[in-house]
Amino acid sequence: MKIILQQAEYEKMIKQARAEFPHECCGLLAGQKAEDHIEIQMIFPMVNVDGSSEHFTMDPKEQFAVVKKVRNAGLQLIGNYHSHPYTPSRPSGEDIRLAHDPDFLYGILSLEHSETPVLHFFYIHSPTKVTKLEIEIKR
Ligand SMILES: [Zn+2]
Repeated sequence: MKIILQQAEYEKMIKQARAEFPHECCGLLAGQKAEDHIEIQMIFPMVNVDGSSEHFTMDPKEQFAVVKKVRNAGLQLIGNYHSHPYTPSRPSGEDIRLAHDPDFLYGILSLEHSETPVLHFFYIHSPTKVTKLEIEIKR
């Protein structure tokens, strides 16, 4: 399964992560699923109500509003993303513990090396089964 992400949305995500540093930023991913790939067409930055460098929580009301917007745009909600201000782009123990849906895409943008952000997408099936997906940035 390959993930295709629009360049403009990728840049928006990096901008958000840098603006909210040293806190984790978070948001939702919308797009379309095909048989062999998933295209992320829009990202929706959200407020991290935790205001923390180590975890994030989305505001349920904001989440509800975004889900509505996604549906109105004719897209599917396909996952979420958050940043890791100081740690690598892989799910933390807490990320894994809180992952509830094996079909949900988890994006993690690492600012560990601030000049070169690293983004990976994962499927989290269980603590021992985390799949990292191939990613293509589309201009
Ligand atoms: Zn995390």
